[in-house]
Amino acid sequence: MQYSEILIRYGELSTKGKNRMRFIGRLRRNIEAVLEGFPQVRIYTDRDRGHVYLNGADYREVSTALAKVFGIQTYSPSYKIEKSVPALKEAVQIIMRGVYQEGMTFKVVTKRSDHSFEMDSVELNHFLGDAVFQVLPEIKAQMKGADVVLRVEIRDDAAYISHETHKGAGGLPVGISGKGMLMLSGGIDSPVAGYLSLKRGVEIEAVHFASPPYTSPGALKKAHDLTRKLTQFGGNIQFIEVPFTEIQEEIKQKVPEAYLMTLTRRFMMRITDRIREMRGALVIINGESLGQVASQTLESMQAINAVTSTPIIRPVVTMDKLEIIDLAEQIDTFDISIQPFEDCCTIFAPAQPKTNPKLKNVEQYEARLDVDGLVERALAGIVVTEITPHSKEDSLSALIENLL
Ligand code: ATP
Ligand code: MG
Repeated sequence: MQYSEILIRYGELSTKGKNRMRFIGRLRRNIEAVLEGFPQVRIYTDRDRGHVYLNGADYREVSTALAKVFGIQTYSPSYKIEKSVPALKEAVQIIMRGVYQEGMTFKVVTKRSDHSFEMDSVELNHFLGDAVFQVLPEIKAQMKGADVVLRVEIRDDAAYISHETHKGAGGLPVGISGKGMLMLSGGIDSPVAGYLSLKRGVEIEAVHFASPPYTSPGALKKAHDLTRKLTQFGGNIQFIEVPFTEIQEEIKQKVPEAYLMTLTRRFMMRITDRIREMRGALVIINGESLGQVASQTLESMQAINAVTSTPIIRPVVTMDKLEIIDLAEQIDTFDISIQPFEDCCTIFAPAQPKTNPKLKNVEQYEARLDVDGLVERALAGIVVTEITPHSKEDSLSALIENLL
């Protein structure tokens, strides 16, 4: 027997009415995006459940993809069975013989939405339970905590049986909470910050600052690859590349080394905020964490933050490095992040950045630069690419791969 569908139970869905429909609609679109590579699959959602009809697609591959989608609490691969008593009997016997191991307990739970079916759910529970005893006389029925729960649903089109329930990713469907701009470097922290925001339903667009020729095509590809990993949780992500060379050269030339990092970060923040405004996002998300080096002190955070009043979400700010690495490994971004392609900050990093930059000094140094002009020129040069879960073979990465 082959699985015909995967039944989906929704996550944190405490709301009713309009919000409930929004939750479900968003989840359906995200599942569609993540399963784009399985053209034969069809997705239906109703008020209580989602149904992913496999139409011959490999159920393991589809489950693996579904397991990462935020907004799914649990899911169960199911068999579609002809809606007749003999067919149901035969099916539960085959399934239970397949899964039975010595000492196992079971129960049958029937739900009947087609009320014209010849047996009601209580009758079916007994009848199908007996059918199992006929082929496995030594198995025990157990109402609470059974090892195998055989779920039987009599729907209008057919009957469905499932016997396993997997835990989904939980969280909220990506996009349900609005949009944020993720400042994505090539490092370990920002992809994790992106993942944690997605988990709470925030749709993200990735903003990446690149300074060619100081930064290599490899650094850009790395940022693309990290973004692609993040598409697994809720679908396509817009990737916005910002040309940052002119700004970094200007700062390097005109600002004392100790303040280089702070000014650089302030430019990144200003530009990200402008892009946010242009693209209708509500917040900025970054991978800042608290530590002892220059960019990680509270003084530094304050000096950088001073260029905007837009809320800045810092999902990893209080996490230990090892906790962040743990998550990076779980979401499979760690190995990409540690590839040795330097990003723009590493290359221009001063030997001794200030850990307690003074806003007064910062502003004085910035007065040496044409801040507005630099920001406008960077904005004029942004390149937007849509990253999809299956765009591995996209022409850009292919091109870069050839160059490397
Ligand atoms: P990460 O591992 O994310 O690079 P980090 O611990 O190295 O973080 P920093 O390099 O100080 O920290 O950067 C702090 C944050 O600033 C990053 O997490 C990221 O959100 C943002 N950022 C730094 N460099 C870039 C860049 N080139 N493009 C976009 N955002 C950046
Ligand atoms: Mg970094």
